[in-house]
Amino acid sequence: MSIVAQAFSNHGALAKAINGFSPRQAQTDMALAVAKAIDKQSPLVVEAGTGTGKTFAYLIPAFLAIKPPSANAKSKKIIISTGTKNLQEQLFHKDIPLVKKALVSDAQVALLKGRANYLCRYRLAQYQETRGQLDANTLTDLVKVKTWANSTQTGDIGELVNVTEDSGVFPFITSTLDNCLAKDCPDYEQCYLVKARQKAIDADLIVVNHHLFFADMALKDTGFGELIPKAHVMVFDEAHQIGDIASDYFGEAFSTRQLVDLCFDVLQIYRSKLMDVKQLGLAAEKLQKSCQEFRLLFNFDPERGNWREKYHQHRFAQKFAKLKVDLDFLYQVIKLCISRNEIIDNCFDRAVKLLMQYEVMANIDINGISFWYETTPRHVVLHLTPLSVADKFSAYVKESRAGWIFTSATLAVDNSFEHFAQHLGLQGASQLLLESPFDYLQQSQLIVPRYLPEANDKNRAAHLAQLAQPLIKASKGACFMLFTSYRVMHQVAEILADNIDNTLLVQGQMAKRVLLESFVATDEAVLLATASFWEGIDVRGDKLTCVIIDKLPFASPDEPLLQARCEDVRRQGGDAFAQIQLPQAVIALKQGVGRLIRDVSDRGILVICDNRLVNRPYGETFLKSLPQMKRTRDLSQATAFLEMIK
Ligand code: SF4
Repeated sequence: MSIVAQAFSNHGALAKAINGFSPRQAQTDMALAVAKAIDKQSPLVVEAGTGTGKTFAYLIPAFLAIKPPSANAKSKKIIISTGTKNLQEQLFHKDIPLVKKALVSDAQVALLKGRANYLCRYRLAQYQETRGQLDANTLTDLVKVKTWANSTQTGDIGELVNVTEDSGVFPFITSTLDNCLAKDCPDYEQCYLVKARQKAIDADLIVVNHHLFFADMALKDTGFGELIPKAHVMVFDEAHQIGDIASDYFGEAFSTRQLVDLCFDVLQIYRSKLMDVKQLGLAAEKLQKSCQEFRLLFNFDPERGNWREKYHQHRFAQKFAKLKVDLDFLYQVIKLCISRNEIIDNCFDRAVKLLMQYEVMANIDINGISFWYETTPRHVVLHLTPLSVADKFSAYVKESRAGWIFTSATLAVDNSFEHFAQHLGLQGASQLLLESPFDYLQQSQLIVPRYLPEANDKNRAAHLAQLAQPLIKASKGACFMLFTSYRVMHQVAEILADNIDNTLLVQGQMAKRVLLESFVATDEAVLLATASFWEGIDVRGDKLTCVIIDKLPFASPDEPLLQARCEDVRRQGGDAFAQIQLPQAVIALKQGVGRLIRDVSDRGILVICDNRLVNRPYGETFLKSLPQMKRTRDLSQATAFLEMIK
């Protein structure tokens, strides 16, 4: 028996370290495949259904490869990338210590987060000097940050439990790629971010997240692209997310926020150190005003759209050109002050970079690219996204000569990895599809109710609320309603509030984590949520026995990047629906469905309120991609099942 298989056996390392551990064939199979990919440094794609235990299935071979038992084998450096910061923390603080203990490993492990997670000593000192410009709440938080800053070892702002996540203080005490002074910074030697990166470079295994990984890979954070070239193996958990994230990082963005931040820093330095250069203040204020005017051209409510189309309209082109004139003027004035101060030098570099980024967004005629915009209440962000990252990514994988392991509970569509592999240009990767060990036929039922309204019916919310009520009653709350639209979610919430006594928790009422904690802590609660609750949520036992999904999760056809990708596929003679829209929706639905059964003893019903699942030919693709569940269209059977398990 191989050393990896031994670790997962009845009397192996995991059984000795974890109470109640029992070997699972699928987990061992995955671990063996991962060990092989690590050994050969070759690509591997694994879908491991919920409950397979995929985390240990990649951690054990990873740690065994760091300190190989055989004297001839070379030690390997490994990067593990997860979908979210929460998962990063869970790996670093919970799973990895367990595996290290089980294998008696002294491997060095580092947790590395993105720049925005670390205190910037330099900026904190700056804002202490100019605190007069901050509002009362931000000032109160700044005092708390200062107290914490005196004692923290890591500078990780996650330690700041007494400051809320959305506090306005964070932009003032963390750095961005733009405003970090890097080697010119007087605090460079003591910088928490620099120290965290150094620790990561020295570690045997680094836990990062996908955003950080692709920022590094696309060299979007200077002085950082040192991690990946040194690694022998990359493991991506929640790998279904990486195609879209990679697209973002291989693209470009230009935002009025960057311009306004630049103006803010210029004004700051003008008012404190360069008061003699009056033009600095004038130029920065002028650009600030142009940014506001540019934002006002777009709809009041945040939206996304096609930048090419907007740019062809005279008033947009005119105000966009004005941004350039004012940015250019600011650049000229800053240039006169070079070398007078490190901040103004940094502002000069930023102005140069912004002028270059501006040109990229003005050059809208290049092919193979989607130009799109999104607005926030105050800002406009222009994006350039390549329609495909396959060529770039596959070239990178090939050149690295490393092992690339991609895993998730949702990678395959109708038992095929074609969509995933094509998106990333992965050729010749080994593939493994492991079914969940849960007995879905016994543990669950799938209901597609009869007499459902059409997807665009204006009374849809009322129908959904009516349909949900007997289910909520039978499941005694313990119910998630997952929506594809905020509007419908709020409409249903309003109707339910008038008709049921259960506690209703609606996304947006409080932070996601708090909302979820309240759901678990409150008896008979019902949670209504949209996209971000479709994945990464783990509620076990009878706290969650009913998941109602309002509609098949096809991305909005108005989504500019999706439109551009579909257009591109059509131009090449392909079928955009089959190649892009359907696989994306299948993966999203699999994620949503995955919220229901989280353990061998969990039981519950899944209700999908969309007729298309049964009356459109593509409904089969969805059904074949889901775990095998007993199916019914009869709501009374569903309520009977719920009453039986409650
Ligand atoms: S190097 Fe950058 S992040 Fe670090 S303290 Fe200086 S400005 Fe802040």
